[in-house]
Amino acid sequence: ATPTAVMVATGKGASQGVLIKGGNALEKAHKVNTVVFDKTGTLTIGKPEVVSAVLFSRISMEEFCDTAIAVEANSEHPIAKAVVKHAKNRLQNHKSQTTNSAAVKDFEVHPGAGVGCKVGSKTVLVGNKKLMRSFNVSLSPEVETYFSDNENLARTCVLLAIDGKVVGAVAVSDPVKPEAARVVSFLRSMSIRSIMVTGDNWATATAIAKEVGIENVFAETDPLGKADRIKDLQAKGMVVAMVGDGINDSPALVAADVGMAIGAGTDVAIEAADIVLIKSNLEDVITAIDLSKRTISRIR
Ligand code: ADP
Ligand code: MG
Repeated sequence: ATPTAVMVATGKGASQGVLIKGGNALEKAHKVNTVVFDKTGTLTIGKPEVVSAVLFSRISMEEFCDTAIAVEANSEHPIAKAVVKHAKNRLQNHKSQTTNSAAVKDFEVHPGAGVGCKVGSKTVLVGNKKLMRSFNVSLSPEVETYFSDNENLARTCVLLAIDGKVVGAVAVSDPVKPEAARVVSFLRSMSIRSIMVTGDNWATATAIAKEVGIENVFAETDPLGKADRIKDLQAKGMVVAMVGDGINDSPALVAADVGMAIGAGTDVAIEAADIVLIKSNLEDVITAIDLSKRTISRIR
């Protein structure tokens, strides 16, 4: 496209809330035949709520909530925010004194798995099965049942372990965006395939994919793994757009032929992307591709 055509299209995009960062993205977007969507915060609203909580040992509810707050207050993850909110509510309802006095030390993020730190003298882990596995924390049949029951309901489970023992868990629910299924089906009508990639577990991911009509899922994928999936698709000749919102999506956004960031997403994702969907509405994936198609066909 000529510089003028690019300028016109960029201006038009901006007026519709689709920020196109350069001519290159505009030139490529019309060729896209595969759109890879991140799950959390992209296909889903990204505001998970705790919908169930359970204790597996003799720990008191107060200690469980206190410990969970102490750890998750250090995390920016939407799940962490849901856990903190729920735990604070519960403590208030029980009129208990939040101590939170124990100092948090050595806080660590394990991407795609969870977080860990020391709370006073306790070693605490909060995250998924993968996190527990990597720290050799075993899961009882009771824990496994809680997991499968909730995951089949499209919920994500988070475990809390103290000194190598799982003491409790919560299940969070993050509804899909109202337009998600419509967008996937419209893309299909344009002969564009939709794929989901997520750090979340297979059962939850599959349940969410089914809700939005996506047949191809890559779950339990860490940030570099997400980028590798994109490269695999490109190696098979696909022209790939990646849509994501998180820090964990930025390698994939860079690897994709066209990276699209959700406007409400993290700065890192917005920087890594070629196109920013300011309104955070998935319909604008189509707006962007359409804009590119119109611009290119006008030139030729
Ligand atoms: P997604 O790719 O769906 O955006 P992430 O890669 O951010 O997901 O996280 C993958 C999984 O890791 C989450 O579903 C959750 O089980 C776990 N996890 C990550 N961070 C945290 C945290 N701060 N607290 C609890 N669990 C976490
Ligand atoms: Mg996300």
